Amino acid sequence: MIEFDNVEKYYGDFHALKDINLKIDAGETVVLIGPSGSGKSTLIRTVNGLEEIQSGHLLVDGFDLYDNKTDMNKIRKNVGMVFQHFNLYNNMSAIDNIMLAPRLVLHRPEEENRKIAMELLDRVGLADKADNMPSMLSGGQKQRVAIARSLAMKPKALLFDEPTSALDPEMIGGVLKIMKDIARDSDMTMLVVTHEMGFAKEVADRVIFMADGRILEDSSTDEFFAHPKEERAQKFLQQVR
Ligand code: ATP
Ligand code: MG
Repeated sequence: MIEFDNVEKYYGDFHALKDINLKIDAGETVVLIGPSGSGKSTLIRTVNGLEEIQSGHLLVDGFDLYDNKTDMNKIRKNVGMVFQHFNLYNNMSAIDNIMLAPRLVLHRPEEENRKIAMELLDRVGLADKADNMPSMLSGGQKQRVAIARSLAMKPKALLFDEPTSALDPEMIGGVLKIMKDIARDSDMTMLVVTHEMGFAKEVADRVIFMADGRILEDSSTDEFFAHPKEERAQKFLQQVR
């Protein structure tokens, strides 16, 4: 589903991603961890074209993102993204946030669109908040709307960049629960940047550890937590545990 081959990414002179090689199969749940500034957001943002790469190949759903002919809209239709700060449209109600992209991009008929949006709101526990504006939702509720909005496009892959980092502690569990349900019950590919090691242990198939723009470790979850190979990964785990 997602394949990086010798990918290099620069911001001007700054070398942000160094020789990234990574393969994520359809249906896998992969957690990406590492210290601040190690390139996690950069890596995840390249997957739906929010950041360009300078060399190597990046295949997403069979399309090469390094090829100018690749239609980015096709990629974005199939790859959803959930951000740390929700990025809801603040001038639209919860349900309108969810219905917008399917209407504009998929031309989903209005009645069906509304039905699917209501089902998703129900799934994230917010059926009674459909008409609330984002300003009338808590952080955790906003993030659950943002997840429902991504799911409405029926993507093949979902990217999460620290989806719970901006939330009050009591809001985190509800969002993680929804993410766990998606990981378990759907065949969606998930790439998740998070410091929630409990989430990683429970649902990740693999854990990837990055530092200084490189992937230092790519192991099965059990192996990673039992015997992290890299010293930097061991130190990092001690800090976040
Ligand atoms: P955090 O855990 O703090 O979110 P991260 O692992 O997500 O960190 P990135 O945001 O990917 O790290 O940043 C990786 C490096 O690239 C950092 O050194 C950062 O300063 C740099 N960087 C990120 N975005 C840009 C940009 N637009 N222009 C220049 N440098 C950038
Ligand atoms: Mg980041």
